[in-house]
Amino acid sequence: MGASLGIGSRMTVQVTVQVTVVHARRRVAVVWLASATVALAALFPMSDASRACAQQTLAVRQVSGEYCKIPLPAEQRVAVGDRVRFAADGEEVIFGTVTAVAADYFVARFASRQLKVGDAVAIRGRTSSKSAEGVVETTENPEQPARKTRQELLAEKQAELEASRQARWEAALAKTGVKPWAVPTEAQHAETTAKHRELMKQVGQTYQGMQLYETEQFLFFSNIPANQVGPYVLQLDKMYELLMKMYQIPADQPVWLGKCLVVAFVSQQQFAHFEQTFMNSAPAAKTYGRCHQNSNGSVVVGCYRGENPHDFGHMLVHETSHGFLHRYRTSQRLPAWVNEGLADYVGQVVVPTSRQVALQQRARLQVVARTRSLEGALNEVTMAQSPDYGIYSWAVTFLIKLDDAKFKEFIDLLKAGVSYPESLQQSYGATPEQFISSLGATIGIPNLRP
Ligand SMILES: [Zn+2]
Repeated sequence: MGASLGIGSRMTVQVTVQVTVVHARRRVAVVWLASATVALAALFPMSDASRACAQQTLAVRQVSGEYCKIPLPAEQRVAVGDRVRFAADGEEVIFGTVTAVAADYFVARFASRQLKVGDAVAIRGRTSSKSAEGVVETTENPEQPARKTRQELLAEKQAELEASRQARWEAALAKTGVKPWAVPTEAQHAETTAKHRELMKQVGQTYQGMQLYETEQFLFFSNIPANQVGPYVLQLDKMYELLMKMYQIPADQPVWLGKCLVVAFVSQQQFAHFEQTFMNSAPAAKTYGRCHQNSNGSVVVGCYRGENPHDFGHMLVHETSHGFLHRYRTSQRLPAWVNEGLADYVGQVVVPTSRQVALQQRARLQVVARTRSLEGALNEVTMAQSPDYGIYSWAVTFLIKLDDAKFKEFIDLLKAGVSYPESLQQSYGATPEQFISSLGATIGIPNLRP
């Protein structure tokens, strides 16, 4: 179909539109349109007559193959992926999907070739609307059972999967007795914010040049020169976004209690002094940063810049991601290798310019290739050992790349207090031995010893 069709009617329209268009087969059909009910009409390109009308009338005027173009006024909200229904010949329901939206029209692809010019269109879920004077009938036919599209079937399957994961998580909680974080009240958020502000006030009085950089999720308090701070703050926001997506947390469910406070100094001496004076902790000489995870839910990260901006960015993201994990679902601690491996993975993704993780992996895997053993690095109870960080990030990256949805479930089960072997079994269907053997195979050592 390629011919251009003009508007055949002299009808004018007030609130809604009743446009008459000429059918391809010279039939005339009436099309209902409104802020929610859209009519379908002719083919690309528009005639002058239809163009003039299009500004006000919403009438669909063009059909080409399986696509149709439907002009709409600015107040009509249509998005790519929206489902539309066409009532062919006023009765048979044919489904379509919006494939493109421009300022004054959208394009929908319909699932069947039976659609004809003149058939009515409704955007799904937005179908009841007002006519010029009264109520326009919805174009949907409630008698007609909806035929499901592939997308709908996939979404249903996904929802089922999610529901069974949720059920497993709840069953695990019931068994272990681990309590999920309660949704904080506004008062609790405010209380934490007030505490953070008080801490910043004291810290600001103790060290020179401390300034606050605040984002939606972070309080970045630092004496690092202002012209250097931008990328670090951005990396923190990026990390938050990444983890929200990774754990499929809705945007309206904030993770932090108040905001996450990051206190970043230029020098190691100031950092060490801050930790001792304000955080009651004594970092070792080579500690680069520390994430303080309060059992009430608040998170404060202390750190210093040092000389390598990439490594600083990596450390910042690494430490802060520990805080995020603390706030995710429950306060349950994870096995050291999962906790550190995940923090290094996130740091690597957000700050790919840092060589930290690659160097640690290379150094440690050279040893593994020789000894053909992980020397217990991936045991459940092992405390984090700094030479093993290369193995931690290697193992976690392997699991995520294998299947990120399974990885999320793995973390969820660990967070519910389920043991590492059982979490692995429930999520990936593998024993630790099978996992380590697969891991070893990636470097040519399938009989890698745990
Ligand atoms: Zn760490």
